Amino acid sequence: MDIVHPPIPFLDLKAQQARLGPGLRARIDAVLAHGQFILGPEVAELEAKLATFCGAAHCVSVSSGTDALQIALMAEGIGRGDAVFLPAFTYTATAEVPLLLGATPVFVDIDPATFQIDPAHLEVRIAAATAVGLRPRAIIGVDLFGQPAPWPALRAMAARHGLFTLDDCAQAFGAVLDGARLGRSATATAVSFFPSKPLGAYGDGGALFTEDADRAALYRSLRTHGEGTTRYDVQRIGMNGRLDTIQAAVLLAKLEVFEAELARREAIACAYDAGLAKYVTIPARVPSSASAWAIYSVLFADAASREAAQIALRARGVPSAIYYPKPLHHQPAYHGAHDGVSLPVSEAVAVRIMALPLHPDMTDEQVARVISAFDGVGLHAAR
Ligand SMILES: *Cc1c(COP(=O)(O)O)cnc(C)c1O
Repeated sequence: MDIVHPPIPFLDLKAQQARLGPGLRARIDAVLAHGQFILGPEVAELEAKLATFCGAAHCVSVSSGTDALQIALMAEGIGRGDAVFLPAFTYTATAEVPLLLGATPVFVDIDPATFQIDPAHLEVRIAAATAVGLRPRAIIGVDLFGQPAPWPALRAMAARHGLFTLDDCAQAFGAVLDGARLGRSATATAVSFFPSKPLGAYGDGGALFTEDADRAALYRSLRTHGEGTTRYDVQRIGMNGRLDTIQAAVLLAKLEVFEAELARREAIACAYDAGLAKYVTIPARVPSSASAWAIYSVLFADAASREAAQIALRARGVPSAIYYPKPLHHQPAYHGAHDGVSLPVSEAVAVRIMALPLHPDMTDEQVARVISAFDGVGLHAAR
């Protein structure tokens, strides 16, 4: 008879908390003691350390990854009549922000191997948007699942068309492209510290990175209601978009172990690659990069084999998740904004993809259990 194991957690923030030890509590207690809950000293300390970590000139912490995206687009004055290009295969926040600002999100298809935005299709979509009278203004490249978007191609296209580049790096803080950590691949980089992201807080949080001092100053103003040189000098319409001091304290404690966590994520991904390639299509690596492994997603031959595998794995205590079951152009909220073209790669990937648990506190035994759970499901890899 099989030995019954407890289910493997998809994410294990309790184990991480135990591993972090008393340093985490000491950081939080320090904030409780000084009482500067808004823009306390930990916020500036975190911003300096995050900028150093990814080699960026400026870091402005904000209240979430979504607010980071919004502040970056507000700073460019993007709004009505403007086209903002982004992949259809991403989390809704990427597309929600241009729409909230009155701009039009223009959905672009993805590369079938890496799931990242397809630069060739982006060119087609820029022409289509221009043809219907929209003004192309910005490209939001998403570093999906923790791997870098094709930044050299996106930057070249942005330069050719005069577009602002925004890196939606919500899933990929810590990832490397061409020898450098993400943070300088676009004119602005937006990161999320949502608890399940590679560097997660204990609540919402985010940050913007840029090489441009003027933009950084504008982001600081926008995150505090558009304030100018003094608190009651209102220069522009902004938002309440600051990072809490307590979240900064949590992130400072987590930043100390972050590189070791990234290495552990990479080791687990390599073990999955080796063990699962005979059952499913393992994730293709973006060339010349290192992933932050927010999500490890495999592809099945079709929707039916995905469903069968998901049920069989669950019976063996292995959880899974689907990012994303529907590309954004098929979501009801975007019907009005979308021009109706089909995006066949995003549509096909959405029905075949499935994510497995991958977090730094997984044991080797748990990783082996995930791999062995695929045995007997009756799968064979198909490209
Ligand atoms: C998580 C996520 C966001 C939003 O970040 P929040 O901090 O939750 O607001 C934006 N884009 C992508 C691709 C994400 O995965």
